[in-house]
Amino acid sequence: MNLFLDEIYSAIVCKIDMDYLVLVKQVPDISYIPPDAWDRKRGTLRRGSLDTVCNEFDMQALAFAEGLREQRGGKIVALTMGPPFADEVLTYALSICADEAVLLTDRKLGGADTPATAYPLAQAIRKIDSERFGGTGDYLIVTGMQSVDGDTAQVPPQVAEELGIGHIAYATSFEYVDDALRVTRITHSGKEVVSPNRYPALITVTDWTEPPFASFNRTRWAYEQEITRWSADDVAADPAKIGLAGSRTAVHHIYSPKEISTKTCVYETDMSKLAQNLAGMYETRSAASNGEKGDDVEYTIPPSSSPTYTGEVWVFAEQDGGEIQPVSFELLGQAVRLAERLGEKAAAVVLGSHVEPMAQELIAYGADKVYVVEDPELEHFTPMPFTKALSDLIGIHQPQQLIFGATPLGRELAPRVAYRSGSGLTADCTGLDLIDAKRARKEYTAILRQTRPALGGNIMASIITQNSNVQMATARPGVMTPLERDDTRTGEIIHHRPELSRNGAGMTVVSRERVQQTAAIADADVIVCGGAGCRTKEDFDALLQPLAEELGRFLGVEAMVGGSRAAVERGYTDRGHQVGQTGQTVKPRVYVAAGVSGAVQHLTGMQSSDTIIAINRDPKAAIFKVADLGVVGTLEEKVPELIEALKNGSVR
Ligand SMILES: Cc1cc2nc3c(=O)[nH]c(=O)nc-3n(C[C@H](O)[C@H](O)[C@H](O)COP(=O)(O)OP(=O)(O)OC[C@H]3O[C@@H](n4cnc5c(N)ncnc54)[C@H](O)[C@@H]3O)c2cc1C
Repeated sequence: MNLFLDEIYSAIVCKIDMDYLVLVKQVPDISYIPPDAWDRKRGTLRRGSLDTVCNEFDMQALAFAEGLREQRGGKIVALTMGPPFADEVLTYALSICADEAVLLTDRKLGGADTPATAYPLAQAIRKIDSERFGGTGDYLIVTGMQSVDGDTAQVPPQVAEELGIGHIAYATSFEYVDDALRVTRITHSGKEVVSPNRYPALITVTDWTEPPFASFNRTRWAYEQEITRWSADDVAADPAKIGLAGSRTAVHHIYSPKEISTKTCVYETDMSKLAQNLAGMYETRSAASNGEKGDDVEYTIPPSSSPTYTGEVWVFAEQDGGEIQPVSFELLGQAVRLAERLGEKAAAVVLGSHVEPMAQELIAYGADKVYVVEDPELEHFTPMPFTKALSDLIGIHQPQQLIFGATPLGRELAPRVAYRSGSGLTADCTGLDLIDAKRARKEYTAILRQTRPALGGNIMASIITQNSNVQMATARPGVMTPLERDDTRTGEIIHHRPELSRNGAGMTVVSRERVQQTAAIADADVIVCGGAGCRTKEDFDALLQPLAEELGRFLGVEAMVGGSRAAVERGYTDRGHQVGQTGQTVKPRVYVAAGVSGAVQHLTGMQSSDTIIAINRDPKAAIFKVADLGVVGTLEEKVPELIEALKNGSVR
């Protein structure tokens, strides 16, 4: 497309005198939850009882910024928003690499959701730019991909949206080529190298492998530094856009995951018993009996009321290389069910450069209408043109709900679209249904209840949207059920030609690498997934392949080996076999998690499996919370025992 022009442009604007602004957050330490932190009656966590630490991904952001500065010099300013004691995280940032630190602290900022956090942060960034960076705009904002408490990944893209700048998500490394910065980032289908062609720009970091290091001298220096404290007024924040008043979502209910999970992990020490149990479960269960599906929407509008929101129910139909992603069909199934109860139409929106041929398929999966948005600037995903095109369409047609897949792309795009269109957004939902609710003396009828895991899966929260034009959510792949494809269905196709400026992306995609997705893994009946607990590639191969073969023989189906992201990064297997948020979503009949801790990004990709077996030496590993059968022990000891036990039988 405009690659040639963009390359010239990016070469012209490359920066040598660059400053860095790192967003850091103090979060509860969820790696150790003391027993008294649980409110047993309510099934919730008392956050005040947990220790606080620097958000792990923000540590990576600090190390990333330090890496950038080592190559080109410049100043690093760390910024956080939080209570007065959040200055601890800034002292930590100073001890790693920051030259200056700013704490945005004010009671008026409390209770904020993501847009009400992003807005005052952006205001503080504007002030730092003018007062500390000389107002040149020659700076990069670097931040962790998400925080481990909220886990929404929404604040960074919403800061970028407020500032009207480009953002590069899922960054893993960078290099300078002829003075132009090139950032490598993960995408759903592989990786991309992206070069900002306008500054400032925002980068969110994931898995920067060089750990931050604080020397004794630097730490002593950090404790002597004065931290700048700013109030909401200091950054000229509009009172209507901050704190509770500026929040567009509200927590409706918080409860323990146990209240919704029908699974109780049965622990086995004897591998023959485990094999027997597995055979029993395998024969009686069907994929539909999981019990954790989010598509049960029993609801009728009360006779004397009318819904609080009106308009169609929309699904963002994510396509990659001309193929609609399966999650879009799942969401469409749910949108049809919701729309029926609301007496509205279900619609899909597809963006790209030649996407009209996909409209009929979306109709076959239940869409009453398909909005086709085509422009050469939309050929490949970049956040700014996609945000503009979709937000303009929302402005014209005013849907009442918009659901995105909680895929890497969905989680980059939805926060910006929600921010731009003045709407609340709930990330990573596992349930979407309708309820009537009362909040702050306001009655809501037939609003969307958005249920999601929070605090690393330790609690479940249901969220409702308030003060918003549209109720928006991203929903996990694999939890909603698509409708049967019906090619005889008919629907309306509406074309929209967006007004997009050329080179409006703020960045140039220098190269794009598609990882060959191992399609077979998504279709396999049995997956043995190895994690970092395998320790070496030799152990991974020697233990998991024979287990997969034996399980396959035992159950009489095909079995495959997959890996967690940590396993892929260590080179035990390739990215085509990765399971999880940035890998593949799988729903096999049997899933064995071997040496996998159960991070929320991993669970996203496998939690809907029919029967889950976890083998882990740590009895507190989160993976046991979603497992049906658990083995506490080392892989080296337990996997050979299990293989032997399986050899003695079969289910048919
Ligand atoms: C934006 C983003 C996207 C991500 N996408 C994905 C994704 O798609 N997929 C994914 O998997 N992760 C993803 N991650 C990473 C995720 O957060 C975790 O870091 C990752 O899942 C951890 O992999 P793991 O469980 O194999 O390793 P670890 O968390 O290191 O866990 C290893 C486990 O092995 C156990 N163990 C160690 N030794 C042994 C032994 N000898 N025997 C038995 N058990 C042992 C340990 O007790 C531990 O529980 C993503 C992260 C981010 C921020």
